[in-house]
Amino acid sequence: MKPFLPFHLPDIGEEEVESVVETLRSGWLTTGIKTKQFEKEFAEWVGTSHAVSLNSCTAALHLALEAVGVTAGDEVIVPTMTFAATAEVVHYCRALPILVDCKSDTLNIDVEAIEQAISPKTKAIIPVHFAGQPCEMDRILDMAQSRNIKVIEDAAHALPAKYQGKMIGTIGDITCFSFYATKTMTTGEGGMATTDNSEWAERMRILSLHGISRDAVNRYTPEGSWYYEISCPGYKYNLTDMASAVGIPQLRKCRDFGKIRHRYATLYNEAFKDIPEIIVPYVNKDIEHAWHLYVIQLDLKRLRIGRDEMINLLKEQGIGTSVHFIPLHLHPYYRNNYTYTQESFPVASQVFKRIISLPIYPKMTDDDVQRVIGVVTRLIQDYRR
Ligand SMILES: *Cc1c(COP(=O)(O)O)cnc(C)c1O
Repeated sequence: MKPFLPFHLPDIGEEEVESVVETLRSGWLTTGIKTKQFEKEFAEWVGTSHAVSLNSCTAALHLALEAVGVTAGDEVIVPTMTFAATAEVVHYCRALPILVDCKSDTLNIDVEAIEQAISPKTKAIIPVHFAGQPCEMDRILDMAQSRNIKVIEDAAHALPAKYQGKMIGTIGDITCFSFYATKTMTTGEGGMATTDNSEWAERMRILSLHGISRDAVNRYTPEGSWYYEISCPGYKYNLTDMASAVGIPQLRKCRDFGKIRHRYATLYNEAFKDIPEIIVPYVNKDIEHAWHLYVIQLDLKRLRIGRDEMINLLKEQGIGTSVHFIPLHLHPYYRNNYTYTQESFPVASQVFKRIISLPIYPKMTDDDVQRVIGVVTRLIQDYRR
């Protein structure tokens, strides 16, 4: 039997290893010149005025909400089809996450459902570019700007991705990226917030390091001074130079990584398009997909087994998969503390039963992709009605 194919493996080369070793030997481990360089390269690469590095995308989302002034009692609209972080950061601000349903084809936030969820208390919307496919940003921005609602993009999946020719990271008020180990580029743990607004960028920077007005590099280098001021109670969200040392070479490879995922998505699409039991990912016009995830939907009416059994059978055949996501409203916290039911979000509730994320990452080979295709195709043949 062939070795197990994991759902994800990061692609770390000698460049990353050498870069970290150099940083370890340099004597400067935490936020310093490597991190400044990473931010500068990231901002140029995405095409934004400011890139603020943080130790996670969760931290970026939290500080983005703080920067635009979300406070106790405000409402923030988030999709139910997302990861814990998107809504949890709203709780950090003592505001209320208002969940909305997704579209059955793209699994992105349903813009009509946003419209219905808007209230006088709505302060922000957090669209998530699911799997790396940009949301309908023109409609979302129109809706938000006319009501002075801020748009904070959760772009944890969307590096690099484009919407109507524009890079994700240059569109909404603030955009948040993740460098978690499974994302399209990694620093182990890490994140970045991009914005063209200097005031928000400065505020996120200060909040990321205890609300201190001068960062460590300014204090401990010969040019720096010992003096600092606490301007507000902040957080401990800074990215280390060890992480940035991994991030710089990863960023330089990010475009090539994306090309490989794109090619693998095309191979999957071609192989599955004539299998009626499999619904391949729907891709909107005028976007560039990051293909962080390749999510198929099973047509369960045509199969004798459910999604969970399919995942187990794939595992027995040595293929690692995952599910993105268990919608928030189905988790105990949201079931017990909100009045939401399965019927509140009929699309997400239904789609959840059908989705499987297949492996898609540059460390995989073409043979690995063909192996996944072979196993999935055979299982479908074995279990079709
Ligand atoms: C991974 C992920 C996050 C959180 O990223 P971290 O860097 O781990 O904090 C947020 N939103 C979505 C949609 C994600 O997939």
